[in-house]
Amino acid sequence: MLIASIAIYYFSVNFRRHDFIGLLRSRAVSVAKFALDSYEYNANLILRSGTGYPTRLPDEKYMILNFNKDTLYTSDRFWELKDLNTIIRFVKDDKEVSYRQDDYYVLGTSHTTGVYKFVIIGAAIDKEGLLHLKKLRNILLIVCLISLISFSIAGWLYSGRALKPISNVVRKVEDISITSLNLRVPEGNGTDEIGRLAKTFNKMLERLETSFGMQKNFIANASHELRTPLTSINGQIEVLMMKERSVDEYKSALGSLLEDIKSLIDLSNRLILMARTSAEDPLSYISKIRIDDIIWQVQEDMKRINPLYHIIITPDSSLTDSEQIIVAGDEYMLKTAVTNIVENACKYSSDHSVNIKFSHVDKLVKVVFEDRGIGISEEDIKKIFEPFYRGDNSIAYPGTGIGLSLVNQIIKNHNGTINISSKIGRGTIITLLLPAIA
Ligand code: ADP
Repeated sequence: MLIASIAIYYFSVNFRRHDFIGLLRSRAVSVAKFALDSYEYNANLILRSGTGYPTRLPDEKYMILNFNKDTLYTSDRFWELKDLNTIIRFVKDDKEVSYRQDDYYVLGTSHTTGVYKFVIIGAAIDKEGLLHLKKLRNILLIVCLISLISFSIAGWLYSGRALKPISNVVRKVEDISITSLNLRVPEGNGTDEIGRLAKTFNKMLERLETSFGMQKNFIANASHELRTPLTSINGQIEVLMMKERSVDEYKSALGSLLEDIKSLIDLSNRLILMARTSAEDPLSYISKIRIDDIIWQVQEDMKRINPLYHIIITPDSSLTDSEQIIVAGDEYMLKTAVTNIVENACKYSSDHSVNIKFSHVDKLVKVVFEDRGIGISEEDIKKIFEPFYRGDNSIAYPGTGIGLSLVNQIIKNHNGTINISSKIGRGTIITLLLPAIA
């Protein structure tokens, strides 16, 4: 507004000046004509004065000179002109000159009568123009002031209204802590930027709430699982110490204690692995691993640990090159995954055996574990990847419910997929698909 007002005022002053100088020029020329025509030109007649002509412009004054600076005519003998020399110099070069002296506009121009050329100088006060410009200046100042006040008030009101949803979100976020992750921020109409931001924030809160809940569950389950063997160890030692025992009694008690301690070690190893797999960066899995090597190794280990377990390995007949079954990964992790699946298959089947087939399909290494065990219900299949979840069918079998969630995490970290299909009483088929290097 200020820039526009200054521009309007500046151009108005210029237009007005231009118009007034135009008026002054035509008056000066007509006065010169009249003066020079009325009196015979005489070089010695230096001063002639008088205002015998109707005054057209306010406080107008005129002067006629020759180029020797002799004044031939002046309407005001007390008139003192600044820069007379400059005017004469300009007019001599056929140029017109105008400037402002106090309230007066001064114009210097030439006029030719016959063979003689004269310098005509006119001056007048643009009273009307000055008055108009003063009015314009006042109007512009008032308009600027009113705009400033109204814009300030409107800006204050609208910015307050526009920022209100943000303040609401900020206030709500300040209330949210780990213990109140169920709170949500107001989403407003949900369509503008702030609404979308609040929606995204709420989605993030939802994810945080779920993962905090899972973590809480995990800790509760882990402590419960750790406490069971510890309580059993504690009970056995207390009973043992009640009285003197025979060597055989001590031996059998120590054997049972050893079993409990072994299961404790197994559980803590699995928990450490769980923590490792969820914290590990899958990008660090870069070793080239032949999947059949892993399977053979697991077969050897199982033979040693549990001679009852029977593992039948069948490579697919379509395999032509060992390169086809190489994956990028972490050997220890992949072995852990395969061991868990094999152990489950043998554990949950009366014949304690599992069939393992591996092949290369569409740039993927496919490993299929098939058993003829107790099978898993549809309901359980949906949940068996959750940490500590044990199926209804597993009550009679030892276990912690960590195995498959560990397998799932390991396969995910290797950019692979795991699929389970099972029929109660018939058996289970677990299929792993891992990206092949070749
Ligand atoms: P667990 O220590 O109970 O074996 P897992 O996480 O390894 O824990 O398996 C989760 C559940 O999945 C088991 O409790 C069991 O109900 C079911 N399950 C896994 N593998 C098999 C299988 N091969 N046959 C039948 N049930 C299985």
